[in-house]
Amino acid sequence: MTERIPCIREGCPNTILPATAAKTGGYCMPCKQEMEREAHQRYIEAHRRDVNLYEGMTDPVEILKIMHTRQVHDPLIRYAAYEQSKEQVYLSLSTEQQGLMIDYAMQQIRTGDEDTGKDILVYLVCYHDASLSALIPELLEREIYYPVILYKSASAKVRDQLLQQVNTDDENRNILLLMLAYIGDEIVVRQFQQWRQFPPHWADQLHVAPEHYTTEAGWELTNEGQRRDLFTTPCYSLYKVKEDDGADNTSNGDPISMLLPNADNCKWCGSSLTTLIDLDVQHPALQDVAWNSERLQVRTCVICSCYGVVYMEMDSAGKPCWSALNVMPMGADDLDPDDYVKLAPDAGRHFRIATAPRQPFHASEWAMEPSASQIGGHPGWVQDAEYPICPCCSMRMKAIGQLDWGEVEEYGEGIYYMFICEPCQLTAVSYQQS
Ligand SMILES: [Zn+2]
Ligand SMILES: [Zn+2]
Ligand SMILES: [Zn+2]
Repeated sequence: MTERIPCIREGCPNTILPATAAKTGGYCMPCKQEMEREAHQRYIEAHRRDVNLYEGMTDPVEILKIMHTRQVHDPLIRYAAYEQSKEQVYLSLSTEQQGLMIDYAMQQIRTGDEDTGKDILVYLVCYHDASLSALIPELLEREIYYPVILYKSASAKVRDQLLQQVNTDDENRNILLLMLAYIGDEIVVRQFQQWRQFPPHWADQLHVAPEHYTTEAGWELTNEGQRRDLFTTPCYSLYKVKEDDGADNTSNGDPISMLLPNADNCKWCGSSLTTLIDLDVQHPALQDVAWNSERLQVRTCVICSCYGVVYMEMDSAGKPCWSALNVMPMGADDLDPDDYVKLAPDAGRHFRIATAPRQPFHASEWAMEPSASQIGGHPGWVQDAEYPICPCCSMRMKAIGQLDWGEVEEYGEGIYYMFICEPCQLTAVSYQQS
């Protein structure tokens, strides 16, 4: 038997065969590989170049084109990030620049990069409510159906075509109903009303009745057959200022009271309740909201809302209190608040409310990673649209805003959705995560 010899690397306890030592210069294989990795790393660090593709650029259209181009990975190149986010650059586009981006998107789609082209169109529709009516026939022809929000601005001609197709196209009926819901004009509303009164022959192939598709586009049919929007407008962004910007700097937004700990306890798990937002009803975000108190306070248990809807009623002084109509979700009595991270008492301190409104559908495509926290606006549903039913009047409650928990807590995730019933002066909070 050949005698093994120790690896010559300092501190290595391994022994190797003389034949291996001859090949590696006396090192064991793990050491040899480790040394090669280190040498490679040193080489990369010594030769890596910093590349700034945005150097000297000022045209947001050109900047966005680069942002949408995937750079081939090269360990010897480190690409500098642009100083603004994609979302910020999109928001800075003029109408003319939006048109140039639409042209660029279509060019991408026609040359085979459908995903990039479609992403650009979604950003333009969400952030600028750009009209795609001239392009929609081509998108349909290319069978680019998702996200359905692209079809919001379809022309009357396309709408009529979809109303025909939905009767015959078994394969695409789901998506066609969603497109119609997004179009949501008078003709569409009337059609959904007729379907409710006289269910079409294809209705039993669906999981829900046709008129329930409208909630995905943020509205419902009233008993009288009218369109009722399920979210409030205008929409104001809630955003976090960076630590180094100084929490007291109010130049880029107004302070807002939110994420306040409360003395009342959750009737289910016993932890203290949290006021998600506390906003003066005079704030322009609430201009179309009928609220009887001076402030709109949306309070909940941030633990239990993850398992079921938490409703709050307003007492005679307009303060939220636990609703007797709350129904404990399965398992909520077993929740131990100690298993959850306690929200820092100053968690809301770094948030601001924007000074100007943004598009109501700005955050509705959650998967596009918009800044999601807002007052008003269409919810950014992580799962299917789910507007809670008011336990008093049985109407669907209206979305009044949402908080992206990823912005609130370091390891937070998911979105808390806030709702109101104006006739009953009730609030509700629900939650979704991926
Ligand atoms: Zn070794
Ligand atoms: Zn609770
Ligand atoms: Zn109600």
